[in-house]
This record gives sequence, C-alpha cells and structure tokens, in this order.
Amino acid sequence: MTVLSTDQKMVLEMVRKVSLEVLWEKAPEYDQSGQYPWSQLKQLAGLGLLGMTTPEAWGGAGLDSVTWALAMEEIAAADPSVAVILSVTSGLPQYMLNKYGSDAQKKKYLLPLARGDWIGAFCLTEPHAGSDPASMKLSAKKAPGGWRLDGLKSWVTSGGQAQVYVVMAKGEGGISTFIVEKNTPGLSFGKPEDKMGLHAAHTSEVRFDGVFVSDQNLLGQEGRGLAQALAGLDSGRIGIAAQAVGMARAAFEIARRYADERTQFGQKIREFQGVRFKLAEMHTRIAAARALVLEAAAQKDRGEKYTLEASTAKLFASDVAVGVTREAVQVLGGYGYHREYRVERYYRDAKITEIYEGTSEIQKLVIARELYR
Ligand SMILES: Cc1cc2nc3c(=O)[nH]c(=O)nc-3n(C[C@H](O)[C@H](O)[C@H](O)COP(=O)(O)OP(=O)(O)OC[C@H]3O[C@@H](n4cnc5c(N)ncnc54)[C@H](O)[C@@H]3O)c2cc1C
Repeated sequence: MTVLSTDQKMVLEMVRKVSLEVLWEKAPEYDQSGQYPWSQLKQLAGLGLLGMTTPEAWGGAGLDSVTWALAMEEIAAADPSVAVILSVTSGLPQYMLNKYGSDAQKKKYLLPLARGDWIGAFCLTEPHAGSDPASMKLSAKKAPGGWRLDGLKSWVTSGGQAQVYVVMAKGEGGISTFIVEKNTPGLSFGKPEDKMGLHAAHTSEVRFDGVFVSDQNLLGQEGRGLAQALAGLDSGRIGIAAQAVGMARAAFEIARRYADERTQFGQKIREFQGVRFKLAEMHTRIAAARALVLEAAAQKDRGEKYTLEASTAKLFASDVAVGVTREAVQVLGGYGYHREYRVERYYRDAKITEIYEGTSEIQKLVIARELYR
C-alpha cells in the first residue's frame, strides 16, 4: 500500500472537496448537453489543478506523479469528461513541452498551459493511422523559415477548443513534433464527434491546409517525433489508468449504497450472496487496479523507465473500469439503466479507456515487448 505524505494527503483532500463541489453535481448536465466544460476547467485552473506535475518555474504545481494519479482518480470519479481533458493537457502537451521544449517554447506555451489559461491537445491519430501511427500521412515540408503542414488528424481530444496543438507530422527527416497555435491560418476543425460517452470532452478532426509553422515551433530534434509521442503516451497512460479507477470507484460506491437501501424478497439486496460477491469482487479489482496505477506513477517519480508499468496499469485498470461499471448497472437492476442513477453514464464513459492512448491489444504488444527487452 502506498503511504502518502502529509502534503500529498492535503492536496488530495482539496481535490476531493473541489471535485464534489464543482464537478459531481453538474456532470450529468454536461453529459446531456455535450457542452465543453470551460467553466469547470477555469475553476480547477484557479486551484492549480491543470498543471499539477509541471515544474513551478513553468507555472505548474511541481507535484509528483503519485499525487497526480490520485487526483485524476478523484476528478474522474466526479466527472470523467473533465478528467480526460486534464489528463491530455497535462499528461501529453505539457509533459512533452517540459521534456523536449526550449526555454522560449516553455515560456510561450508551457506557462499558460500549466497555469490553466490555455488547454493543450495532442494530435497523433489519423483516419488511416490509429494503432500504427508510423503510417501517418500528415506532411511537413520545409519552407523558408519553417515548415508547411498539410493533412488531417482525427479524434483529437479538445480539438477546436484547445489553444495549443502538439502535432506529429512526417517530413524528409522522418516524423517530427510541431507546436501549432489555434488561430494559425490554414488550421480548421471538424464538428465534435457524436460519441458513446465522454460527451463533454469534445473530440474532433483537425485539418491542416498549408499551415505554416516557424522553425521556433519545432519541438526538440527533427525526426524524433514518434519517439517523443510514445514517451508522452507512457506518461498519458498513467492518467488514463487513473481515470479508469476513478470511474470504477464511483460506480461501485453507488452500487454499494443502493444494495444497502433496496429491498426485495423482504430483505436488503446486500444480504443476497449473489450481490455480496459482486461487491466484494468489484472492491478487490478496484484496489488492485489502483495499486498498479500508483506503482507506475511511483516508478516515474523515481526517474526510472516506466513503459511496462504504465501499459500494465492501463490494460488492467481499463478492464476493471468496464467490468465494474457493467456490474454496477446490474446491481441497480432497471434503475441502473436510468440516467438519474448515473451508473449507465460511467458504463458508457468507461469503455473508451480500453481504446484511447493505445487499445488494450496494443498495451499487450507493449507489455510483451518490454518483457523481452
Ligand atoms: C474519444 C476518443 C478520444 C481520442 N483522443 C485522441 C487524442 O487526443 N489524440 C490522438 O492522437 N488520438 C486520440 N484518439 C484516437 C485513439 O488513440 C485511437 O482511436 C486508438 O489509438 C485506436 O486507433 P483506431 O481507432 O484507428 O483503431 P485501429 O488501430 O484501426 O484498431 C482497430 C482494432 O484492431 C486492433 N489492432 C490494431 N493493430 C493491432 C495489432 N498489431 N495487434 C492486435 N490488434 C490490433 C485494435 O486493438 C482494435 O481493436 C481518441 C479516440 C477516441 C475514441
């Protein structure tokens, strides 16, 4: 069991309180309207929650990854859409800017992202390049003073809403990473995709039509884009695994309370062994998933390679999220199928954790590769 320091406990207490006060109540409304949760994000930004692991020198809170993962669990338990927006902006663009960016890039982009004045997006996937990002087509051609980007990215979380896009594109020197601002001429966005869940976390196409990016906005070295993106995904996967644990926990808590209230055959349904065993198994699987998430985060905090741990945590936690939320609906019976009781939303939202930032099949490929390294 991870022993938390006093500071970690304090941060967590604050995040738990804010998640309940700011996110929990309104989450169903945002799910129904599909409105991007700017107002919620601004409130979290004011508390320093949008740049938790970015160093203080660059506008962040400079916290460790264990605290970040536990905070992500709390936020996801209250509103999974807000959690993924946060996980992406901090786990990917901020992480990559901090690791590979120049001081000038950090000043211009990382600072406003970490303060939460801006939201960041990560553009890797294309319509024909999902699990196999090396087959991407978005082209980066050298132009005087910079590059011209042409092509299409798909499924971009916060697409059209984010102010900064970290974009992987292919040029003569291989795949490189570019920083693109929202208002750059030639950049446009599709409508938010009509998704099964995570309705408030907009996902859209991002189109590049002769988008000029200056040499100053090449992130790190030319040709290192794929390696940078994969390193970013190691970090991002801890956030997604934590998001999965948060959804599972929230659905479990609703089911546990319901089983204590609902009576059938003259007794509380929690007295039936069929229900008790379900709850016991849900609890155990959530605890195991959380332990894997915290182990991956701790490995990252130790400065060691954590590819294996991050993929292991994501593979397991996403399976737990889907299984536990499905069982939560079952414990509530017909009421579980009703929007009012919230568990159907966690069930819909949970499925994505088996898909984005690498499907479960891709996590198995990564894990197996790491085992033979
Ligand atoms: C809501 C949402 C948000 C997203 N946000 C972002 C984002 O912000 N930025 C971004 O860049 N992308 C984002 N994505 C894209 C996401 O990462 C991809 O959808 C995911 O990587 C899978 O790619 P694909 O959809 O093209 O599926 P495919 O790669 O076509 O896979 C289809 C099926 O084939 C399986 N498969 C593929 N290759 C193998 C293999 N080698 N071995 C075994 N099975 C295999 C897959 O596991 C899957 O089951 C998002 C997607 C969604 C749905």
